[in-house]
Amino acid sequence: MSECICGRRLMHDCCKEIARLEAALAEAKKQRDHELSRLAACGVAAMGNTKEAVVQRIDRDNPYWSASYGDVCASVDREMDLRSDLAALKASLPGMIAEAWATAIQIVWEWTYQKRVGGADIALIETMKERAASERARRIE
Ligand SMILES: [Zn+2]
Repeated sequence: MSECICGRRLMHDCCKEIARLEAALAEAKKQRDHELSRLAACGVAAMGNTKEAVVQRIDRDNPYWSASYGDVCASVDREMDLRSDLAALKASLPGMIAEAWATAIQIVWEWTYQKRVGGADIALIETMKERAASERARRIE
């Protein structure tokens, strides 16, 4: 006959219940630690908004991967895409401004040329024409 966990000769129901609860508590602590690690993985993913960090992401088969981890990664990807779009826009801004200038000058020049009757200032028109050409050249650079 087996001895009870309390050391006495007979198995007691209350001692069996204590053993069952202790096992359940140990399992719950294991699950808690696992969830804390999955949560920490989300934090790491949230901070990892560089190409170098992205290649170090964990896969779905990793025990610390979760749907929330996937959501954080997707959000970080969107942030990185937006940063990239912003950088491209900033880079193209001088060209866009130059193009707008060139278009505006061309319109003014064409209008002035069309309205020129007799004493219009040819030198001014030519200057504006040159300005438009130089703005176009700057845009191409
Ligand atoms: Zn006992």
